[in-house]
Amino acid sequence: IIDHGQPDHSVITTCAYCGVGCSFEAEMKGGEVVRMTPHKNGGANEGHSCVKGRFAWGYATHRDRILSPMIRESTDQPWREVSWDEAIGFAADRFKIIQEQYGKGAIGGVTSSRCTNEEVFVVQKMVRAAFANNNVDTCARVCHSPTGYGLKQTFGTSAGTQDFKSVGSADVILVCGANPTDAHPVFASRMKRRLREGAKLIVIDPRRIDLVRSPHIEAAHHLQLRPGTNVAVVNAMAHVIVTEGLVDEAFVADRCDTVSFERWKAFIADPANSPEALEADSGVPAQTVREAARLYATGGNGAIYYGLGVTEHSQGSSMVMGLANLAMATGNIGREGVGVNPLRGQNNVQGSCDMGSFPHELPGYRHISDTETRASFEKLWGVTLEKEPGLRIPNMFSAALDGTFRGMFIQGEDLAQSDPDTENVDAALQAMDCVVVQDLFLNETAAFAHVFLPGTSFLEKDGTFTNAERRINRVRPVKPPLQGLSEWETVCRLATAMGYDMSYPDAAAIMDEIAATTPSFAGVSFDRLDREGSLQWPCNEAAPDGTPVMHRDAFVRGEGQFMLTAYVPTEERSSRSFPLLLTTGRILSQYNVGAQTRRTQNSRWHDEDVLEIHASDAEMRGVRDGDLVALSSRKGSTTLHARISDRVPPGVVYTTFHHPETGANVVTTENSDWATNCPEYKVTAVEVAPSNMP
Ligand code: SF4
Repeated sequence: IIDHGQPDHSVITTCAYCGVGCSFEAEMKGGEVVRMTPHKNGGANEGHSCVKGRFAWGYATHRDRILSPMIRESTDQPWREVSWDEAIGFAADRFKIIQEQYGKGAIGGVTSSRCTNEEVFVVQKMVRAAFANNNVDTCARVCHSPTGYGLKQTFGTSAGTQDFKSVGSADVILVCGANPTDAHPVFASRMKRRLREGAKLIVIDPRRIDLVRSPHIEAAHHLQLRPGTNVAVVNAMAHVIVTEGLVDEAFVADRCDTVSFERWKAFIADPANSPEALEADSGVPAQTVREAARLYATGGNGAIYYGLGVTEHSQGSSMVMGLANLAMATGNIGREGVGVNPLRGQNNVQGSCDMGSFPHELPGYRHISDTETRASFEKLWGVTLEKEPGLRIPNMFSAALDGTFRGMFIQGEDLAQSDPDTENVDAALQAMDCVVVQDLFLNETAAFAHVFLPGTSFLEKDGTFTNAERRINRVRPVKPPLQGLSEWETVCRLATAMGYDMSYPDAAAIMDEIAATTPSFAGVSFDRLDREGSLQWPCNEAAPDGTPVMHRDAFVRGEGQFMLTAYVPTEERSSRSFPLLLTTGRILSQYNVGAQTRRTQNSRWHDEDVLEIHASDAEMRGVRDGDLVALSSRKGSTTLHARISDRVPPGVVYTTFHHPETGANVVTTENSDWATNCPEYKVTAVEVAPSNMP
């Protein structure tokens, strides 16, 4: 760590990594960042930070950054540096030609959960107003789209119910498919503090994560289920609650749709949903499920926190609804210390979804088919909006392979590395006539691009991120954009070149438009955020100071709705050829596909993805600790080093996905969530063998 001396001033901004959204002071000297220190008044972090955020500024000035727009006629040609005008004109001309030949719907856009609300808002507006279709989707498609669907169906809005502080009032904490210690470290510290004070812990996870047993913390129950059986376990817990008379009848009668409750009660009470009936599938002893269910239902305030281990399954949406059912049945919703809380992986997953990035929803989660909502945007934007939902990312890829979808604008997202079934993604990108990538680095997706528009790092952005607790934080520039143009301005210029005049004087004006069009943001402005620090939506006339805890007196949808969540085993089964199940996760020092963290001092702590394998599975295959092994599935294979570990049970292997050299998605399948197409990253049948590579 280099000592850069005393700073001359500092700028308060927000971490660019995970959904905790920690506030930092970027300490500056001579126009350069010399240190990032956690801001003591940060609403989400209160002076704490993790090893990722502290060194995040390293990637912002990394030599790999591309600072000049580039174009090329075809992907086998070298890049040519050009002016902004030429690059934007080139992209617009190609998009227009595609639309003339193949129709308005032949192009689309993808927004990034790493970009600000303002940057995301202008991309979805460009697609709807300039491209004249609804082919806009978000990288949240591959992570938390089931959260969006599941919480909207049950509670009425696609967001976590609590602020982080609320965990301090929880008596029972249920952590499902999440590893907060590594993925959300600052929130994990709050949670651990509460656990050390005596709150009880239930962990549902195929892997023994740190929380299960760490200093002064021991989970009351670890439901170490077989990957792909989440819904079996949550249904079995609900079965116990219903059949043992543990339902909070008063809460259900007062706050929930009783017709849906009665239907759900009859369904869940069926013996097919009992812990005993589902034990063989899930691998969790029935008695453990029974005890965990009793503890959650009767142990006081029960709070649920979950992550991608819930959503990235073929039943991701069912599982989100299953957790919401549990909370409603036990009255664990609408006050401090309870609730259902998705731990968002990226800094602005919540915000990118709020901003209308889904092909069926305008900003604020309002369906595109709603005439009144559409009319309000049409009036402001001066266009007629298409009323049919557009294509999701996987549908865009399928259409590209069919030849009907030919152009894509990709904002800060490495689809070629982060989306499942790499071979299919590569083929789809290769088939397009115009791929425009807006990013900091020449990522894997850029190999298929015709236009590269340099993006800005968080240190150059002016805008807002919305964290996992719906907290809208300011992101302030500490220096002007290194490549000369802010990202939102680039997008506006592209929309204008496409024929739709789009411009704003500054990012604050974009937030003003968001506030004017999105009811839950009505009370939000840069001025107010600068005065008050942060605000949690809904922030409007009904909740002028924002909303730390939602659904207090009524659910957003009125009455809470119980949803039927029949357990359907995944199609991804182990077999004689692929007898092990692979699941994936993150490590503390790295973030997502590592494009940022690998370009910071964090790279020294984790320089490769390794495969955790149980000793018995390793021995059976002649694999020793540290051996290079081949990991193969029905889709493909890769190599990585093995680590013998008792964190995984026999039959399950585990790896992280931070390094492109490993390319974990080479082996993942095309299976996806039935409601949202979120890929089933968390279950892949694989085989492991000693590698014969040198
Ligand atoms: Fe906070 Fe997450 Fe950034 Fe760590 S990575 S400093 S927990 S926002």
